[in-house]
Amino acid sequence: MFVHKVIHKQFGSPQALTNEPKERNAARADNAEAASPIGFADVLLDLPVTYPLQYRLTPEQQPMARVGMRCVVPVGPGRTMLGVIVDLPSRSSIEERRVRPVRALLDDPVLSHDWLQFCQFASEYYHHPWAQVVLGALPPALRRVPGPRAAGRMARLRRAPPAHATGAALPPPALREEQRQAIEAIAQTHGFAPFLLHGITGSGKTEVYLGAIAAALGSDPHAQALWLVPEINLTPQFEARLQERFAHLRVVSLHSGLGEQDRTGAWLAAHEGRARIVLGTRLAVFASLPHLRIVIVDEEHDASFKASDAVRYSARDLAVKRAQLGRTAVVLGSATPSLESWHLALSGRYALLRLQQRPAFAAFAASAGEPASGPAASAGLPAEAANAAKAGPRVWAIDVRQYRPQQGISEPLRAALGQALERGEQALVFINRRGYAPVLACDACGWLSDCPNCSAHAAFHRAEGGAGPSLRCHHCGWSRPVPRACPTCGNQDLKAVGQGTQRVEETLRETLRQRWPAVRIGRLDRDSARRANAAQDTLQRVHAGELDVLVGTQMIAKGHDFQRVSVVCVLNADAQLIAADFRAPERLFALLMQVAGRAGRAGQAAQVLVQTRFPDHPLYRALAQGDYGQFAGEQLTQRRAARMPPFTHHALLTATAATLPDVLQFLSTCRRTGVELEHAQSVVLYDPVPMPLARLASEMRAQLLVEATQRAPLHQFLDAWLTAVRTVKAPRHLRWAIDVDPLAI
Ligand code: ADP
Ligand code: ZN
Ligand code: ZN
Repeated sequence: MFVHKVIHKQFGSPQALTNEPKERNAARADNAEAASPIGFADVLLDLPVTYPLQYRLTPEQQPMARVGMRCVVPVGPGRTMLGVIVDLPSRSSIEERRVRPVRALLDDPVLSHDWLQFCQFASEYYHHPWAQVVLGALPPALRRVPGPRAAGRMARLRRAPPAHATGAALPPPALREEQRQAIEAIAQTHGFAPFLLHGITGSGKTEVYLGAIAAALGSDPHAQALWLVPEINLTPQFEARLQERFAHLRVVSLHSGLGEQDRTGAWLAAHEGRARIVLGTRLAVFASLPHLRIVIVDEEHDASFKASDAVRYSARDLAVKRAQLGRTAVVLGSATPSLESWHLALSGRYALLRLQQRPAFAAFAASAGEPASGPAASAGLPAEAANAAKAGPRVWAIDVRQYRPQQGISEPLRAALGQALERGEQALVFINRRGYAPVLACDACGWLSDCPNCSAHAAFHRAEGGAGPSLRCHHCGWSRPVPRACPTCGNQDLKAVGQGTQRVEETLRETLRQRWPAVRIGRLDRDSARRANAAQDTLQRVHAGELDVLVGTQMIAKGHDFQRVSVVCVLNADAQLIAADFRAPERLFALLMQVAGRAGRAGQAAQVLVQTRFPDHPLYRALAQGDYGQFAGEQLTQRRAARMPPFTHHALLTATAATLPDVLQFLSTCRRTGVELEHAQSVVLYDPVPMPLARLASEMRAQLLVEATQRAPLHQFLDAWLTAVRTVKAPRHLRWAIDVDPLAI
């Protein structure tokens, strides 16, 4: 994290990015040629260059031009492009007659100095061209050369009525003392103030965000709030909650699922201060918010805050940076903070706020009558005590060597599901694999359903929604109908190996219907959610009590406030436990805590059952105790010993090309170039290696890891090194990218 390590690097020229004419005049007054008008514009263009290009302003344009305006300029013969002005120098740095004129100035909207500066920071930190950061951050409609009717369209977008408007605001619930203290701590700050809000799911973090926003917005009639959530699916729920609480204010959402009009409209509303609250996914961190007073990042540990193409930014980290540049408070909230954030909180750089109780459980414990019986009571495990509910759901690691799963589901899980149905409660069954089975196999010859384009199996999908049974690669999208017989030996008896969501749904239907013929089982994964609104519909049916059991992937894990779920089953967790990536345990723990958090929201005694071959793994022990602190402490100790983040800092140079030797050779050349640089003393350059998924969509992929103990020298090195990398001769079609603070190595 870069909070306290601003990279100080100046803009192109002293006047750059000062769009106040006052300063421009002052700068000119210092100049001997004070009388000469500003004659040129440095323009960011989405071209493969890392610097702005210079154009000439016509005499009519000169008095109007401002830094932050978009403009239309010629590029190459007969082509024009949209660009953004970032400097207005009075003299040209190149031979004047070779400088081409600006075709048109677009004065609506004008981008602010602060916003451009924030984009420049992102550009420098992630070592990605400034122009691409700026243009990529604008809504698509503002990135293009406008057509003749653009002005009318903008006017219409501005007239769009507030999203939900009117109605009386719903007052907050009576806050608990720890919530009140947290809000007060945030509200009291002046200037940059980063907080980490740690509280288990259901502990009332959302109320703290709402309270902190209310305080920030209440202190200034223009103040704006930014609230980042990890998933598009979560925005309707939170937008409703915000609109309920702040009925008189305009709340807008920003995410990639919006149509172009809505996205541009929301962007403009934020830019012009009409929207007081912006709720969005990671791209919303680039919203233009001139009066930003508070930033919230919910589920701050979530991997979706990290972009995986173009500029590989972390919206969480950029949110902190934004708060620093804008001198505001920022609240990162999670039940399982990232180890980076936890480390910063432990070392005092973030103020740690904790919520230790679940309000609903407190209420339950007071009124609890009958003790719940343990899921595995019938399977011979000790029964749980009712007061366990106070601390959250009870977690059981079910040893699959002892309780052999039938069709993927062991007896204790069946028993627990049965108990939930008996009590008229709901259950979730979580498995992080969609499809019917992850692979199809021929026992006769050993054939496996491999993807022809990737180093991975293609999953077997049962017929569904009009589509026949198919093999599908979840990495590249390749698919084909299931072969009738083994393509190698002709054997007609192909076996589906392992479990996916479809198969689990089928198994549960078959087994549960024997005793509960009316049981209603639903499924939620990327396939079932393909139809528009399908995901919302399914979730709505859970809320309305129209489903008894919901099978799904992580789509069911995030944020949904289910009231009647009392049993959560987790299948196939071990796959992540034994994964090679050093962050795998951290991710698994977060995921399991989150899944577990879906249970017992309304206070019923809840059980979480995780099937595993490693019931004694420390991760499950910490999980059973609901003790994030213990788990995080152990992980940090290991990371420190192994010299891993957050104790070191990483950057990953990745490359893809048709053949592995091409990629490896390119990376080796890059490595040699790097080793020779002066700044190489302070970094470690590892040997290039194929990526864990070496072949993706017929491209071979490899990576080179750069490691440093300090951030500043890492960035100095990357600056020099990438300049050199850009000149390395590479085979045609080779593409490379740099990923600073990569999530997986
Ligand atoms: P989190 O964001 O930590 O998962 P929420 O803020 O969504 O938790 O709170 C969980 C549930 O508890 C919600 O239904 C919320 O309305 C309720 N809740 C939160 N704080 C209080 C409170 N002080 N009194 C009563 N109910 C509360
Ligand atoms: Zn075969
Ligand atoms: Zn594939």
